[in-house]
Amino acid sequence: MDNLLRSLPKVDELLNNNEIKPHIDLIGREPVVKAIREAIDHLRQKILAGEDIDSVDDAVMKLIKGYLSKLETYSLKRVLNGTGIVLHTNLGRARLADIAVERVSQIAKNYSNLEYNLEEAKRGIRYSHVEDILKKITKAEDALIVNNNAAAVLLALSTLAKGREAIVSRGQLIEIGGSFRIPDVMELSGCYLKEVGTTNKTHIKDYKNAINENTAVLLKVHTSNYKILGFSEEVSTEDMVKIGNKNSIPVIEDLGSGMIIDASNFGLSYEPTVPEVISQGADVVTFSGDKLLGGPQAGIIVGKKEYIQKMKKNQLNRALRIDKMTLAALEATLKLYLDEKLAIENIPVMKMLSLSEEELKERANKLKDQLNASATDLLKVEITRLSGQVGGGALPLDKTNSFGLAINPIKISVTEYEKDLRKLDTPLIAMIDHDTLLVDLRTIHPLEEPELIEALLAPLKEV
Ligand SMILES: *Cc1c(COP(=O)(O)O)cnc(C)c1O
Repeated sequence: MDNLLRSLPKVDELLNNNEIKPHIDLIGREPVVKAIREAIDHLRQKILAGEDIDSVDDAVMKLIKGYLSKLETYSLKRVLNGTGIVLHTNLGRARLADIAVERVSQIAKNYSNLEYNLEEAKRGIRYSHVEDILKKITKAEDALIVNNNAAAVLLALSTLAKGREAIVSRGQLIEIGGSFRIPDVMELSGCYLKEVGTTNKTHIKDYKNAINENTAVLLKVHTSNYKILGFSEEVSTEDMVKIGNKNSIPVIEDLGSGMIIDASNFGLSYEPTVPEVISQGADVVTFSGDKLLGGPQAGIIVGKKEYIQKMKKNQLNRALRIDKMTLAALEATLKLYLDEKLAIENIPVMKMLSLSEEELKERANKLKDQLNASATDLLKVEITRLSGQVGGGALPLDKTNSFGLAINPIKISVTEYEKDLRKLDTPLIAMIDHDTLLVDLRTIHPLEEPELIEALLAPLKEV
């Protein structure tokens, strides 16, 4: 034991070690010294506890590298999404378009005219940068952006219905993942929820009968992540607008995902688009920036000028304000929508949804051949038909017809394999079904394919 303790290396020696030196350049001397001390201490405890150690030098180096790798990797990492869920909230929802990312980088690195009016050399308005384009795309009179759609609904209700009643159908009292609940958001905004109708059916007369002198708004909520089918009925935006107009009560519609392009273009179910709902007369429409729109996290509010202006003046708006990086990404994303083809080609969410089954099958076949050529003894690969989802609480009943890889590792179990894939520097998030690992290629970019192959082989090579 004494010999082992005496052979523990000194901190200074290790600092000069060629394997350690590069880490000093990377993260600085202090954290490396600390890692070395901790590693030596740790090993000393092991020796004192009577553990037998073959090579003290190797053991200490292994411990140091473990500590350093924890310090050097980021907690927020890029991952490969093999789930086929295009808008996976846990995996960051929408991937941004290249141009949006470029714009973020340019605006973040430099000064900008964020709140500066270049023509008049005086203070400007941050929302002005996206207002015109939003008006163009949605045909609305005015627009405002906040932190996310939850904030948009909160701001709209707080501004237009605080201390008064908002009428909502019982079939639309939604909960969205991550605990966005309409009744709770309403309570927080200071308005009173007046439920009408039943879970499956709400009629025009239900709204009419509920209106009284204390009614502030009619709220329509898109049941994004579920559908009420069968014997069911809800009141259309147009009919709600008729009731609202007659009684001088604004109609707010929370659209959730907020498509600009009709989803049936991608073989998905029809969903009302933002311009449609605006043309039907909705006074205020709210939707997310990072769902089917394919932009950054944001809550977009469009509608009649008189209502949007009130929201802009609400003090709450200041607390929900978006930053310049969001604005940069959003402006770039919205500009792509000026041309539908450009949007589908360049906005990753649109692009992924428009990939055909044949394209995916072809890619799956190539990957299968590559994997089989490099490691027949390590894994068995087949191609398989898969049904993915849009995700992000949008189009809950729609399945995308996908293709992907079905993989069985030969020397380890599938559960072990899947766990190892999550531990990689760039983790691969895959699915397991019937003891087989599944990777849907719809959410893997063609440029990510070499990394996918590397990732799939990495856990097997170490066995
Ligand atoms: C997703 C969703 C929200 C919440 O939007 P975030 O941008 O995630 O805050 C609110 N309402 C509906 C109908 C939704 O689908």
